Amino acid sequence: MDNSSSTAPTGTKAVGYGNNHSFSSLGPIEFERRPLGADDVGIRILYCGVCHSDVHQVANDWSNTVYPCIPGHEIVGEVTGVGSDVTTFAIGEIVAVGCMVDSCGTCESCRDDLEQYCEGPVGPTLTYNGPVKPDGSNTYGGYSDAIVVKQHFVLKVPANLDVKAVAPILCAGVTTYSPLKHWKVGAGQRVGVIGLGGLGHMAVKLASALGAEVTVFSTSEEKQGDALRFGATLFVLSTDADAMEALELRYDLLIDTIPAAHDPNPFVKLLKRDGTLAVVGLLMPFSEKTNNQEVAFHRRSIAGSLIGGIAETQEVLDFCGQHQIAPEVELIAIQDINDAHNRIKAGEVHYRYVIDVANTLTPERS
Ligand code: NAP
Ligand code: ZN
Repeated sequence: MDNSSSTAPTGTKAVGYGNNHSFSSLGPIEFERRPLGADDVGIRILYCGVCHSDVHQVANDWSNTVYPCIPGHEIVGEVTGVGSDVTTFAIGEIVAVGCMVDSCGTCESCRDDLEQYCEGPVGPTLTYNGPVKPDGSNTYGGYSDAIVVKQHFVLKVPANLDVKAVAPILCAGVTTYSPLKHWKVGAGQRVGVIGLGGLGHMAVKLASALGAEVTVFSTSEEKQGDALRFGATLFVLSTDADAMEALELRYDLLIDTIPAAHDPNPFVKLLKRDGTLAVVGLLMPFSEKTNNQEVAFHRRSIAGSLIGGIAETQEVLDFCGQHQIAPEVELIAIQDINDAHNRIKAGEVHYRYVIDVANTLTPERS
């Protein structure tokens, strides 16, 4: 049967960098973006940040990767098309897309502007790696030339921010801003940031802009100067047991960004009464059991936190605009993405790679 006369709208050809197996490196993959719907914004991608989550996801570290996997959830781009129901975005505008592109919109979490905790049948639809919807479709992220996104999930970029350095705010920024806001961090409080990488360096900048006194707990001595430059007043090697002991019972909030299984107990002891260890880095079990005696005796909490809602993502973008907070970025060509992932694994990134998508990803050059 000849379908060529079908009137069903067809999508647009797109190209991205992804992999087809956990053990293969990333390379060009052609795919199709859906046609622009009435509620959609079409975006030509300019820049995309490289999150450690991308490294975990392509390697199937969380045992939930659906291949092909085309990562990228720190997206900055230019609007190329708007559906008939879109009134707040215009062609040519610079916009951003973070970690989610859909959610049920009706559950309690969605109604509370916490789409990341959507309790609908498939949870939030992440910008890449789905979830796989009932129709079997996957989602593909910002390591690609274009994306089509429902308007609710598209964000405004403050005009005074450098467009090349905005991308990391979309994940690293909101993932650390959200716990800072949830635990009501402000002047007079002590915040510890554990791990000075993509998330950690944003946590330091945001917490100090909120007025907190910030300490960085790091495994890398050479990062001390950067930590102080980003706004910390104290830098501690977390491997230095004496220095750690001297800081017990001191912190209101610790934001733990370590990406690998580790022992939380030395950090629990740093919390003062009612303090919280907010774990954002590890989405797997700790390497050691928590000693609940240390937790109970000072009514401490061990918590987790996932990215941030859409309203909060807009809030952190605006906050960065107001406070002139810029992530520390190194622009890379998309052809260098495998090297960038290896460097992230080796702890060599200072502090976020951002792919110069528009200037390096073209069908001819990929
Ligand atoms: P990153 O740039 O690689 O930074 C992680 C930092 O942790 C490193 O710079 C290093 O800092 C420290 N570190 C690394 N390996 C360590 C180890 N084995 N033991 C102790 N410290 C170690 O990564 P990122 O992009 O910030 O992401 C961090 C984690 O957050 C990843 O696992 C990612 O998947 C997760 N994440 C979670 C969410 C969420 O919603 N909860 C959102 C985004 C990302 P020092 O050199 O200072 O020690
Ligand atoms: Zn991320």
